[in-house]
Amino acid sequence: MSDALAAALQQLKSVFGYDHFRGQQAEIIGQLLAGGDALVLMPTGGGKSLCYQLPALLREGTAIVVSPLIALMQDQVSALQQLGVRAACLNSSLSADAAREAEQALLAGTIDLLYVAPERLLTGRFMDLLQRSRLALFAIDEAHCVSQWGHDFRPEYRELACLHERWPEVPRIALTATADAPTRQEIIEQLALQSARQYISSFDRPNIDYQIELKHDGRRQLLAYLREHTGECGIIYALSRKRVDETAALLQVEGFPALPYHAGLDAATRAQHQERFLREDGIIMVATIAFGMGIDKPDVRFVAHLDLPRSLEGYYQETGRAGRDGEPAQAWMLYGLADVVGQRRLIDGSESGEARKRIERSKLDALLGFCESLQCRRVSLLAYFGETYPGACGRCDNCRQPPQSWDATEAAQMALSCVWRTGQRFGVSHLIDVLLGKTSERVEQLGHDRLTTFGIGSALDAQRWRSVFRQLVASGYLCTDLEGYGGLRLSESARPLLRGEQPLRLRLDPPRQSRGRQRRTPSATAPIDLSTEQQRLFEALRAMRARLAGEQSVPAYVIFHDSTLREIALNPPASLGDLADISGVGSGKLERYGQAVLETLQDVL
Ligand code: ADP
Ligand code: ZN
Repeated sequence: MSDALAAALQQLKSVFGYDHFRGQQAEIIGQLLAGGDALVLMPTGGGKSLCYQLPALLREGTAIVVSPLIALMQDQVSALQQLGVRAACLNSSLSADAAREAEQALLAGTIDLLYVAPERLLTGRFMDLLQRSRLALFAIDEAHCVSQWGHDFRPEYRELACLHERWPEVPRIALTATADAPTRQEIIEQLALQSARQYISSFDRPNIDYQIELKHDGRRQLLAYLREHTGECGIIYALSRKRVDETAALLQVEGFPALPYHAGLDAATRAQHQERFLREDGIIMVATIAFGMGIDKPDVRFVAHLDLPRSLEGYYQETGRAGRDGEPAQAWMLYGLADVVGQRRLIDGSESGEARKRIERSKLDALLGFCESLQCRRVSLLAYFGETYPGACGRCDNCRQPPQSWDATEAAQMALSCVWRTGQRFGVSHLIDVLLGKTSERVEQLGHDRLTTFGIGSALDAQRWRSVFRQLVASGYLCTDLEGYGGLRLSESARPLLRGEQPLRLRLDPPRQSRGRQRRTPSATAPIDLSTEQQRLFEALRAMRARLAGEQSVPAYVIFHDSTLREIALNPPASLGDLADISGVGSGKLERYGQAVLETLQDVL
């Protein structure tokens, strides 16, 4: 091991309280210490921050960390200060005095890390300040914000290449948890990282359990889900502001600690809700995708999707906010016919140009393929990011209850021909009425009871037909009408199916009743392996943590993570020396809280 890495390992233990580097951390840190650039693609919770925080401590001068999330900077700085690291931030929410103080510290070289918003960084005044300071490195966090196609696009990020032009000798590290190849390419080009070494980790999140449930009564299903997860901190994503407000209100009435979050709320309310989510235990945030980027709350136990996300990347990003601490967490999604038809229509009917629509369609196809897949969710999710996961994971719905498929060649033919004969303009409910031979007023009025397809589908029930139509739309054999009435028409790819030239197997949806009663995975929060005695200790330590956090008004997790408290409860240390051996207890934490931990233990034991 090189001297530089030995020094890094020593700091890892003494400052952060960890014994080993994770994944590629050591290589990345080595690269920066040697003065090279790095592009780091690592999943959420993989340990990206350490990759620049450690070099920031070891290299002379101050590390400049570009972060798009003003609201969260202070928490990041608080977390570092808790470790005894000299850090500050600079953004528009700071008072003039506080800003001046941070600038002085930068000039004097008395801080190791300075977090700064991109728009602040790019001002002439700040550039000038940098010119007069000693710089350890530039870290560009959430680097995918340069991507024009992504929903986190930040135009200022595109100007960050100027850092390299002005300070070519200062090493740069760009980091993101967004995995796809086009975004990666955009980052390299826009940030001039052509000569940077790339560090691409596996994107697997082994502690996340993936579950997709067919949607039939969303509200009831959500309530049932939450009742099995009481006390857990979670995020619920919904498509629209209205759905967010309605859902949050419903949950509040039902007694859950739920808060809404979307771009339609005023800034003060948003900030307050985010603050409560970060600081209090067990809050459920009901949100649009406006919420979440950079939320590094480690103990989010579940992420629920009430509606289809926009893409598989979106799904991965959003679910990735669960379980950053490495403890068991769940990604739960409701999915149904209306989602499929709605999303298809949204794209087809949008004002975007053809090129953009094509991209969006193929992204949606990938997502729908994932939802309808018969194989392990983890395998299909990682395959989308070009990764091969060996075998089946055992921690997803498809692994637990492998779905069956059935030969739907004939059924598909009937469904498609019914669409054709009714003139390609009716929605699923009407089509099913015709297939089942139901004589409604509408059917008679339209003369659809005289069609050859009238009643030919009576061997299957309505639920099965919905499943057939959902999968035909999901796989693109049927497309939605542009007028937005939910009518379906045949696509080019439907012809061979319609003529019976191509066999088709479909997923056999589980019957509803058994779904409802199906045993879910055990609740994730309560550490399973603690005895009653240890559980009491753990609760006492959590109460202590809440008190300490309250006194300093910082989030509880910057004091100690649950995993650290759990380890303490499992092996109660008798002395400060023993406590220092516990993962997550560095010298800063030991000095600040060591005594409080020992006293809490004495009180309970
Ligand atoms: P990311 O930014 O990649 O999402 P973080 O940097 O927030 O991840 O790290 C996730 C969690 O893992 C943090 O709680 C961090 O303290 C912890 N962690 C990082 N590196 C290590 C390590 N080498 N050993 C143990 N825990 C680590
Ligand atoms: Zn699986």
